[in-house]
Amino acid sequence: MSLSQSQDVSCTKCRFFDDHVAKPSAEDGLCRFNPPVTQPSPDAHGLWPVVSGMDWCGHFSMDPSKPN
Ligand code: SF4
Repeated sequence: MSLSQSQDVSCTKCRFFDDHVAKPSAEDGLCRFNPPVTQPSPDAHGLWPVVSGMDWCGHFSMDPSKPN
């Protein structure tokens, strides 16, 4: 079985997923695996990648504090 077929693999269950208040929709969050990227201007903040709760990537790491 590949990771994509597993019910246990999703961003919402990953230790790097941040259920941040500033997000496009309720299922979205921020991925904190890498530092923020692409500052639009020198005074702007860097951007954290927005991911859907059902996304996943090869850096997935189960967060033991989140329900299965
Ligand atoms: S994109 Fe990868 S590292 Fe980031 S929250 Fe999702 S599974 Fe985790």
